[in-house]
Amino acid sequence: MIPASPSHAQPADWRRAYRDLVTDPHELLRLLDLAELAGALPPPGHAFALRVPRGFVARMRRGDPADPLLRQVLPLDEEFRPQPGFELDAVGEMPSRAAPGVLHKYHGRALLIATGSCAIHCRYCFRRHFPYGGELAAREGWSAAVEAIAAEPSIEEVILSGGDPLSLTTTKLAQLTERLATLPHLRRLRVHTRLPVVLPERVDDELLQWLRGLPWPVAIVLHANHAQELDTTVAAACRALLGSGAHLLNQAVLLRGVNDDLDTLCALSARLFEVGVLPYYLHQLDRVAGAAHFEVDDAVARRLAAGMHRRLPGYLVPRLVRELPGAPGKTPM
Ligand SMILES: *Cc1c(COP(=O)(O)O)cnc(C)c1O
Ligand code: SF4
Repeated sequence: MIPASPSHAQPADWRRAYRDLVTDPHELLRLLDLAELAGALPPPGHAFALRVPRGFVARMRRGDPADPLLRQVLPLDEEFRPQPGFELDAVGEMPSRAAPGVLHKYHGRALLIATGSCAIHCRYCFRRHFPYGGELAAREGWSAAVEAIAAEPSIEEVILSGGDPLSLTTTKLAQLTERLATLPHLRRLRVHTRLPVVLPERVDDELLQWLRGLPWPVAIVLHANHAQELDTTVAAACRALLGSGAHLLNQAVLLRGVNDDLDTLCALSARLFEVGVLPYYLHQLDRVAGAAHFEVDDAVARRLAAGMHRRLPGYLVPRLVRELPGAPGKTPM
């Protein structure tokens, strides 16, 4: 038998990888030779259950309970003990909704909660308690979302967010952008997504073709918190995205035990640039219930930002910001 050459192989369908996530924490611990951590898990049936793509697990170090990728996804019992000051709607989003799934909080930009679905559940996620049920812009062919944007000519930029907007099919995304293309006031499209990092299979030909066909300049804001996330599969996905003409930026969240040290943050910036991505924001953690164990002191955060400034060229220093309810944009620290 002649072995099939890679060029004739069927391209792997990203949806298969998306369905085949690791969702059982005991399986995750077995895969990493860390069964001894089972005692730190919350009781089964808790909210915001484990979800992580197998390819992301493959980038974790086996036998290392402090692995920075593992810490981002492993549910811990301590998340479920209430901590004063850590809230369900940490950034005050609900008052700024313009239509179901449309947040118009900052001038000129409307953010669409396109879907609630993600391939990964990041334990620090500020939308981990978001009431996605009634708040999805993709419902009913995007009608309410498109109408809300059409009615507000000051909006120049639509930001697809979520959940992860790239968990929608490309067909569904194209439905939206075809409708948005009829609005004369839009000048940019932005996509906030973690999928090219956690499940790079998502960057397939269909997605690239959609991106190439869009009538606006496109910014894709990735989300990686540690250089170890950016392996060769992610580098290839970024190269392909750049080939579509999109600009690539990254936002990270400052997380205790993951990236709260200067060498780690500098290594992240350097690796991002190697794969064609510029650092955009470094977010101080939103105080969402369940994430208290990730919090980094403001003074430490400022010291780290100053350290990056001393060590890196200006274009590799992300802006340290935090989100304050009612502010006109992200607040620089
Ligand atoms: C963060 C955010 C934006 C984007 O802010 P930029 O500073 O432009 O990146 C827009 N709308 C909402 C509701 C946001 O939370
Ligand atoms: S991918 Fe983004 S939206 Fe989804 S859980 Fe992680 S941080 Fe939250």
